[in-house]
Amino acid sequence: MERRRAKNILVITLLTFSLFMTGFLPTGTKTSEFKLRRIVIDAGHGGKDPGTVGRISKEKDVALSLALKLGQYIGELLPEVEVIYTRKTDSFIPLKERPNIANRNRADLFVSIHCNATTTSGVYGTETFVMGNKNFSANFEIVKRENAVILLEDDYEENYEGFDPKSPESYMMFNLMQKAYFANSLSLAEKIENDFVTRVNRRSRGVKQAPFYVLWTTSMPSVLVEVGFLSNPTEEKYLNSKDGQTYIASAMFRAIKAYKEEIESL
Ligand SMILES: [Zn+2]
Repeated sequence: MERRRAKNILVITLLTFSLFMTGFLPTGTKTSEFKLRRIVIDAGHGGKDPGTVGRISKEKDVALSLALKLGQYIGELLPEVEVIYTRKTDSFIPLKERPNIANRNRADLFVSIHCNATTTSGVYGTETFVMGNKNFSANFEIVKRENAVILLEDDYEENYEGFDPKSPESYMMFNLMQKAYFANSLSLAEKIENDFVTRVNRRSRGVKQAPFYVLWTTSMPSVLVEVGFLSNPTEEKYLNSKDGQTYIASAMFRAIKAYKEEIESL
């Protein structure tokens, strides 16, 4: 295990170094080559992994119906964009397979949909994450929770090569992997949070950075949206209502449409 981890770190260090040398990695600016032709929509959790559980609902179900609704809007209103789902039913998808689906299909954008939870029931609002380590310790609890599904998978030690979702050290070697897409990811994340506030009257807790597994392993701009807290009874009701879901999915849709227009006009 230790040797494999050391090998892993060496490979990633070499890869990072060579990306630096080719000038590929720290672009930090939006790139005009980006076109939005194909989007992967990832409904968090599923099957034996319910995600966070509220009083009346489970995260996996809320995430799935929002993912399908968002995909439906894109299909109807941006028919030139191909939509690929990581799941369309209540099925268990290994965490690793979600970014793999996006990478294999050469998606131009990856959007992962989740619900939040905390021990204080008064806390509510939306958060959109991009890959990064800013405020790592403040965001580590949520990262640990969202990545911990790995532990439900058979052979996870083999498949994730020594990565331990509960150990902060495991995250350190990955912090450069998504840097090339940072500006684009951030732009979409800001649009999503902005639309939540200005168009559908949600409380935004802001755009944040954290090393969610699905964000650091996708080879394209990617965001993870926490659409609200199932631990807040009022917000949970809203998240499960038809109107609430329509508002949330339409806000995400408008943000994606604006992002598409932005990157394609550069
Ligand atoms: Zn989740």
